[in-house]
Amino acid sequence: MTDSVLAIDIGGTKIAAAVVDADGTIRTDQLRPTAASADPDQVFAGVESAVRALIPRLEPSGGRIRVGISSAGPIDGPAGTVSPVNIGAWRGFPISTRVHDVLAERYGADAVTVGLAGDGHCFALGEHWLGAGRDVASMIGMVLSTGVGGGAVIANKLFTGVTGNAVHLGHISVNAWGPKCVCGGHGCTEMYARGPALVAAAQQQGWRGGDDARALTAAARAGDEIPLRVIDHGMRALAAGIATTATELDVAVVVLGGGVSKAGEVIFEPLRRHLRDFAVLDYVAELEVRPAILETAGLLGAAALAFSQE
Ligand SMILES: [Zn+2]
Repeated sequence: MTDSVLAIDIGGTKIAAAVVDADGTIRTDQLRPTAASADPDQVFAGVESAVRALIPRLEPSGGRIRVGISSAGPIDGPAGTVSPVNIGAWRGFPISTRVHDVLAERYGADAVTVGLAGDGHCFALGEHWLGAGRDVASMIGMVLSTGVGGGAVIANKLFTGVTGNAVHLGHISVNAWGPKCVCGGHGCTEMYARGPALVAAAQQQGWRGGDDARALTAAARAGDEIPLRVIDHGMRALAAGIATTATELDVAVVVLGGGVSKAGEVIFEPLRRHLRDFAVLDYVAELEVRPAILETAGLLGAAALAFSQE
């Protein structure tokens, strides 16, 4: 019988759950919309329904069911609770216990172990296991979309930090005199580099080509001056954030994914160029930014988290 785990990926718009084999094969999966409800139980009902649908396909290995959960953050890893910015109904929601209890009904409380990590962390774990970072022991994973997230794998192990929120790349400051961020800080990376910030900056400069990052990057690829300038500016901020993180962690490979990064060279070229201004110490001078290759890095990262449990 193949060794397999249950992986769950909880985002602001959808919930994915899957039975994943030890070689990364997604054997069977379930997708549910994330309920736009103020009732925490109603949001959890989507998770529960996906998990219950997979129970017939779950096979205990060594008498155990191992589960990995990836959730939008912030999370409290040791407590097993989540308070996702984009799921307002969940504040300190005990996701690990709730998932555990659904499975414990069927397999017994002691047979079920649940691991929890933030989505940026699971993205890094997934790309490290089966994606663009599979040939290196240490890497930083970064997601550039409507926000900026991240995580790091150091010496083949997820670097969680004390509460499970380490490498919060979107909210490190790259401008100590910058405007106030939604997080309360000033001049955070995310304020300059996230998709909606790039679009807003372009519109402020008179660009009228659309209202999302996809339109913006398409216009930049076509040589439109304002989008090119705005992306260059945003990628300089991101480069400073990446270089700071890589310099602190002493890591030489960064894997970049997320919707905005899918635009390709129009993002990667300025990012790599600006990195040369910030990644200047010898040990990060060769800092490499690679495009992510997995479509389901978060889900596979949650599976990796489940497999990593003792
Ligand atoms: Zn911030």
